[in-house]
Amino acid sequence: MILLMGGQGVGKGTFANLLQERHSYKHIETGKMLREAANSNKNIADIMARGELLPFEMLTELVAANITPDQDLLLDGFPRTLEQAKWLINNYSKKFNVHVIYLNVPEEVMIKRIQKRINEGAGRADDADVAAIRRRLDIFWNTTMPAINWLREVPDIKFSDIDVSGELNENFNKILNALEEK
Ligand code: AMP
Repeated sequence: MILLMGGQGVGKGTFANLLQERHSYKHIETGKMLREAANSNKNIADIMARGELLPFEMLTELVAANITPDQDLLLDGFPRTLEQAKWLINNYSKKFNVHVIYLNVPEEVMIKRIQKRINEGAGRADDADVAAIRRRLDIFWNTTMPAINWLREVPDIKFSDIDVSGELNENFNKILNALEEK
């Protein structure tokens, strides 16, 4: 079970797609699933447009329903809080070899990459609003970083802190190398 973690715009989706070209992972992308759910649920859409997080129970139900025992899993966007990280480790670290890939970049790089996504027309509702972008970055530093730092110390899982502020191929090779390390 690979956990792709990192702030907004670090390239979680891009790296997840590249990884899937090499190996058939089941990709569990909570943001994408929730954007689909938001199409028919205004409450979810409003929370996401503000750049806020959805409730713990909604996320754990969604993730649990998608975790299948005999497949290699690639989680992207989950966990995002300490509570979610603890839930995942408590319930699944015995059943899976967990490897956290923390995509580490400075905030300036995140902002540049979100800007690029907007310029390329791939921006989302929550990219359109400067306040929502700021809120998502703040949530990353204040809420997701504690989860990442907690996961660093969990025994019996692998944790790789990877600087992906360089060029795409170079970044992706670092990820592949980390996944190959025993
Ligand atoms: P993403 O595409 O991963 O940036 O996620 C888009 C939005 O979906 C987030 O800003 C949250 O509103 C919601 N979301 C995705 N994953 C989670 C999660 N693990 N916990 C809570 N909310 C989430």
